[in-house]
This record gives sequence, structure tokens and C-alpha cells, in this order.
Amino acid sequence: MTLQYGRHSINSDDISSVLDVLKSDFLTQGPKVPYFESALSEYVSSKYTVAVNSATSALHIAYLALGLSENDLIITSPNTFVATSNAALMCGAAVEFVDINPNTLNMCPIALENKLKLLKSQNKAPKIVVPVHFSGQSCEMKRIHELSIEYSFRIVEDASHAIGGSYCNSKIGSCRYSDATVFSFHPVKIITTGEGGAVTTNSLSLYKKMQLFRSHGVTRDASLHKDTDISAWEYRQISLGYNYRQSDIHAALGISQLQRLDDFILLRNKLASNYSEIFSSSSFIPIRVIEDCISSWHLYVIQLPHEYWSFKSQIFERMKKKGINLNVHYQPVHTQPHYRFTNNTSLLNSENYYASALTLPLHCGITRSDQEYVASQLVDSIKQSCK
Ligand SMILES: *Cc1c(COP(=O)(O)O)cnc(C)c1O
Repeated sequence: MTLQYGRHSINSDDISSVLDVLKSDFLTQGPKVPYFESALSEYVSSKYTVAVNSATSALHIAYLALGLSENDLIITSPNTFVATSNAALMCGAAVEFVDINPNTLNMCPIALENKLKLLKSQNKAPKIVVPVHFSGQSCEMKRIHELSIEYSFRIVEDASHAIGGSYCNSKIGSCRYSDATVFSFHPVKIITTGEGGAVTTNSLSLYKKMQLFRSHGVTRDASLHKDTDISAWEYRQISLGYNYRQSDIHAALGISQLQRLDDFILLRNKLASNYSEIFSSSSFIPIRVIEDCISSWHLYVIQLPHEYWSFKSQIFERMKKKGINLNVHYQPVHTQPHYRFTNNTSLLNSENYYASALTLPLHCGITRSDQEYVASQLVDSIKQSCK
């Protein structure tokens, strides 16, 4: 048996929820998507949710709804999946990165403030800042929100890792300190719809715009197209949108997975604390969990001490031979070939972190004894590699 770094958990309720849709009148654009949207809003305490076919689409429509276009700039973390910044490139905008805090691995608010000051001195400012809640732990949203008032930018939270987590006693997705929050339901994430994503917001106007961008810019809502004498079959295309819709089949899986979310979070927290305990006397550096945060523990990442960095590939390969598929999150986005033209100097914390990081298996299908096996094999692989 191979141990994967992440894996979905599907039970008989999930299966019958999907089967019911397959036997129903609607495979898409039926009742399941709006039901999933209200259930998500209720869970995170947001006013609105727009469900889509991926988090990448969710980021794209959130940026579009906030008016991101050519000549605009977004700022995000280099320690993320490329989708966070790609969605801004899809709007024609420029992207710059701000370094991470080496303890939390999230965007550093001090580095952000320095970047904002520098941009201001050049008469520039970002339109949107996108904090990424790496591994399921919230960024320091209160501080980022204060900066958004001082420097007048908008905030989209990339919470692809973080559904079920909390910050200052609010569920991530409540948008208390942001304009919108994006979730991913890819199978490695906390809950899954196969492929899928969603955006939450408390703004009615953003909500309406995102609904338009999700489906071709087409609407039957007279308050939007302002045509009074429109026939029953007619619709109006009032902007250029996409087909980013989620199907009812996917939403049905999301509805039943959402009911299991709190159990997943409890179990993931338990597994994370097992690792911390197992590694407590080792030289590996875990993520620091900050006050006011409950992490959803999408990823369990350790940093190797400096003397092992150059052996990381060998350690990784050795683990793979033993049937333990580690991963590395993330190659800093500013070092990707496609991003070579972005205006970026070195971002040392994220580059050093990348040199040191390994993601260990953590998902609802593993046991404490799997974790002990991973730990002992890791120690062994390091010994073998660094001889
Ligand atoms: C997974 C992920 C995405 C993209 O999610 P999809 O649903 O696969 O489009 C975006 N941002 C982050 C941080 C992610 O981990």
C-alpha cells in the first residue's frame, strides 16, 4: 500500500447523494447547486456563495467582479499554487509577490507594508491583495485589513486549503476582513466535489457580478439588463462571461461532504498533533500555529534543518521506494519560468523554505501507526542519504 500526502474520503452517504442526482431530472442547473451554495453560506456565515467548477474559476470571477483588468496589479504570496496568480494574469493584470513569514509560511504583513510603501513612492498601488491561507491556517487578516484601508486595495482570500478553519472565532469564508473568499474542492483538499470551487462574499453587487461571469455574462434579471419588455424565453448577455458552472452531480457530493467537514477537521487536527508529538524531540521544524487560528490542516509540512537541504531529492526518492509519496508545497511562483518577467527580486524566506520543505501524508485515511511508520522511515532515509 502506498501512503499519499493527501487523499479524498468517500463514504456510502456521499455515494447515494450522487446516485440520487443521476436518477433525477437535472444533472446540471437543477436544485443541488443552489442548495450547496446556501449550505456553504450557512456554514461559514457569509451572505452569499457562488459555486463553480474549480477554485481557479472562483479566483478568476472574484478578480473580474472586483474590476481587475489591464494596468492593474495584484499582490500575493509566492508560497501558493500557480492558480492564485494565474487567474490575475487571465484578467490581463500584473502580479507581484510579497515574502512569507518563515514561521507561519503565510504572507508576512510587515513585508506587505514595506511593499505598499515602496509602490506608493513610485505612484503605484495594488488593486487586490490575495492572502493565501497556507496549509489551512489563516493569514493575519486583521493587519492586512487595516492596510487595505490605509492603502485602499481590495482583499480576496485564497482559502483553497482552509475550509473548516477559523480565525478570531469566525469561520474562514465569513469575509469579516475581506471582499471575497475562495475555496477548492479538488480531491486532495479538505472536502471534495471531484473538481469544484466556490466564492463567498457579503456584497450583493459582487455576488451578482460573479453569477454573470460564471455563465456567459447572460441574465434574465430585469434589474440587471434594464429591458422592461422582454419575452419569457429571452435573456440578455450584458458582459463577457465563461462557462464556469458547477453541475448538480458535483454539488450533490459537496452537500454530503460538507456534512462531514467538522469530523474531518477534528481528525486532521488530531493527526497533526500526533506528528508534533512524534517529532517533538527531532530537529524538524513544524509550522507555527498562531493565536486566534484553528487550522484545517490541509497539509502537514516540516522543514529540514539546513545541513540536510542538499539531500532533499535523495530523501524524497528513498521515501518513494518505501511506498511513502511525499510532496513539496510550493515551488515559489516567482521562480517559475512563466513568471520570469514579473518584477521580482529574490524572496529569501520563501526560497529557503522551499529548499527545506517536505509535505508528509495527512488525510482522513491514515492512522497513528502510519504516521509512526512515516516518521521512522523519514529518519532512516535521512541517515541513508546523508552518509
Ligand atoms: C488547489 C489550489 C488552487 C486551485 O484549485 P482548483 O480547484 O484545482 O482550481 C488554488 N489555490 C491554492 C492555494 C490551491 O491549493
